[in-house]
Amino acid sequence: MAKAPVLTPRADDFPRWYQDLITKAELADNGPVRGTMVIRPYGYGLWERMQQDMDARIKETGTQNAYFPLLIPQSYLSREADHVEGFAPELAVVTHGGGKELEEPAVVRPTSEMIINASFSKWVQSYRDLPLLINQWGNVVRWELRPRLFLRTTEFLWQEGHTAHATYEEARDFAARIQHQVYADFMRNTLAMDVVLGRKTAKERFAGAINTLTLEGMMGDGKALQLGTSHELGQNFAKAFNTRFLSKEGEQELVWQTSWGSTTRMIGALVMMHGDDDGLRVPPRLAAVQAVVLAVKGDDTVLAKVREMGDRLKAVGVRVQVDDRTDLPFGRRVVDWELKGVPVRIEVGPRDLEDGTAMLARRIPGSKEPVAIDSLAGLLPAVLEDDQALLLRQSRERRESRTAEVSTVEEAVEAAASGGWARIPWAALGAEGEAELAEHAVTVRCLVAEDGSVPESEDAPGNVAVVARAY
Ligand code: AMP
Repeated sequence: MAKAPVLTPRADDFPRWYQDLITKAELADNGPVRGTMVIRPYGYGLWERMQQDMDARIKETGTQNAYFPLLIPQSYLSREADHVEGFAPELAVVTHGGGKELEEPAVVRPTSEMIINASFSKWVQSYRDLPLLINQWGNVVRWELRPRLFLRTTEFLWQEGHTAHATYEEARDFAARIQHQVYADFMRNTLAMDVVLGRKTAKERFAGAINTLTLEGMMGDGKALQLGTSHELGQNFAKAFNTRFLSKEGEQELVWQTSWGSTTRMIGALVMMHGDDDGLRVPPRLAAVQAVVLAVKGDDTVLAKVREMGDRLKAVGVRVQVDDRTDLPFGRRVVDWELKGVPVRIEVGPRDLEDGTAMLARRIPGSKEPVAIDSLAGLLPAVLEDDQALLLRQSRERRESRTAEVSTVEEAVEAAASGGWARIPWAALGAEGEAELAEHAVTVRCLVAEDGSVPESEDAPGNVAVVARAY
């Protein structure tokens, strides 16, 4: 008899599978206010690892962390017309405080361009103060109409970078550097995610930006997810807050700015990109627990051995957890570790000990074989790196095999409807074709250049639009 599936199979109902996995792997619960989320310790552990890795990369660019207030005077938002228009439908507004109606309502930040520019305009005096490179780790609130855990929550955790530069070129280059050196590098090398780098069309641009750079990933069902964005803000916010500097030539000039963000949505992407019918598969470089050593039975020699093995693996730099909860059925513990996607399981029972072996179960390739206990410490670091590479390869192969080259809107819609992406020359599509796609819930995820690089401009010759249904 086939065992009953722990999760709804992906092929039956992908959204239900996603929801099941989030619950059963103990990543998150819904909060009491619609669209809010309780992040459970295992899910928060993934976020902490993401934060540590990204924070180091952000600091390598010379950016420093700071913290700005959650509440923003409502009047600030209206200073930049596109920005307020874009964000107005998503705002949460505080009208009362301390039991009284407030003279001026305060907005719960949906993003912090405004409040940060209020400070930048004071901090920046001369060209010597530039570039000013600031990042903030925090939470924001956007009143989402179609919330979904991690992917689109009303309150989410993120980092938001905000920078000011003396010239357009410097700001442009910095936004691109973040897209490549921070986001793409992190997503590919740590999250093992294949991502496509491009620029947004005017329609999809961030409210108030002159250009938005993006990273798009293909999920297990062939839909797209925007994983991070880096914006060139031009001088729009500098004008709104009069953020000026004294140039080398002695002129008062407006600064050029960027902003860039990535969020807890990446945890949802991890599930949808790497998960399978047994649960999550966590990339080894991200995993807080890379290997779990399980005692099959509560026998004294077994317990002593798993602890000793745990120590030996730790000594070679593997992040290990010993599972000696032998009062719980072994099968149940195995199912739980599979759901949580811990890359490697080492199972040790009394019979294995007799011949000096343990069972090595690798979650990513899904293999299981006996190995000599004494060889494990030498073997494991390379196993983890191999499995990290396999995960990235699988996500790239999925995107490549499910992307169609097309030349008409009809073909693009068909490709998207059948669970894939389409690439279509931007010259053949244009803003008109983009509007037609929208009628079928298909969007231009990004524009890429002929050689796969990020185009210098929207109408550069040879630009290709990558189109898909998106989360
Ligand atoms: P933005 O400031 O609009 O460019 O957003 C930055 C990044 O946040 C986007 O690239 C998305 O990946 C992510 N994001 C946007 N809205 C949400 C949301 N409601 N929940 C989680 N992540 C989000």
